[in-house]
Amino acid sequence: MIEVQNLTKRYGEVLAINGVSFMAQPGQVTGFLGPNGAGKTTTMRILTGFMPPTDGKATVAGYDVFEHSMEVRRRVGYLPETVPLYRDMTAQDYLTYMGEIRGVKNRRTRAQEVLERVGLIQRAHSRIRTLSKGMRQRVGLAQALMHNPPVLILDEPTIGLDPIQVLELRDLVRDLGRDHTVLFSTHILSEAEQVCDNVIIINQGHIIAEGSPAGLRAELERGGRVLARIDGDLEQALPVVQGVPGIASAEIRMDGIVATPANHDDPRAQIAQALVSNGFKLLELRPLAVNLEEIFLELTRHERNAMTEVSDTATPEESEVASS
Ligand code: ATP
Repeated sequence: MIEVQNLTKRYGEVLAINGVSFMAQPGQVTGFLGPNGAGKTTTMRILTGFMPPTDGKATVAGYDVFEHSMEVRRRVGYLPETVPLYRDMTAQDYLTYMGEIRGVKNRRTRAQEVLERVGLIQRAHSRIRTLSKGMRQRVGLAQALMHNPPVLILDEPTIGLDPIQVLELRDLVRDLGRDHTVLFSTHILSEAEQVCDNVIIINQGHIIAEGSPAGLRAELERGGRVLARIDGDLEQALPVVQGVPGIASAEIRMDGIVATPANHDDPRAQIAQALVSNGFKLLELRPLAVNLEEIFLELTRHERNAMTEVSDTATPEESEVASS
């Protein structure tokens, strides 16, 4: 179990995380989802006992990460973004060595067990430098498992892997989630949706949403908002949609018109009729927020709008939200 209360971290002037609170439960994969610079690594490094917070409190497996950092390290397996591997060692020797550092008994047997678990037993005696990137990532995961910790903290483990390696690693993380508390960071929304039981969305150092992928989707769909895409001028179509009885508001967004009904009735038939009878060609009409990507875009819309207003010099890449 991981419990985080009001965690704040400053690097000098930079407020990397600001009042972050959440829980990660045993037997689940909790996704920590956010764009580059959101504060994922900072939070994870605090949780692994490597860095103190500026303020707030966090416990891992019941131990305060700051006051009892050695106890925490014994109970956490950490896969950092870049794993420091000894490339001339074999996988087996490297794991045995890591086990020695952590005081693991029966280290060679344990190394075999974890290599089996991550699907690398056939390559136990290969030097790490001869392994593919995906295999090296598995060795990194194996070192995180060596001391049999109940909690696993995995920082963007699928970055840089090819599509097949990504699928294999996601399967492995899901499997580990059955008997560990797993905190898994990613900036790939579809990955969080596929791997995680719960998702915490972080942006600019604070949490903006939390829940199961399905729950988050339902929350945003609850208002019954719909997106209408047309072949034609959106500015001209907007008053048509706004004039549909039962529509509380409508605005131009996501390359279309997003309409919010005043009640829970499905407004699509009336919107379709109004648009078509006014001469617009309807390309698409569907409930909003069908995946996490749209949820993320929706949740960060206000912040992105504010950023666009203050800076018209940002490149598209800078203001773009990462997606799969
Ligand atoms: P990424 O996916 O790019 O690794 P992240 O979500 O893990 O991003 P962090 O690495 O935690 O984000 O960074 C959060 C903020 O803190 C960013 O603005 C980053 O520039 C800043 N930051 C991180 N480490 C330091 C540091 N050592 N000194 C100063 N600022 C830092």
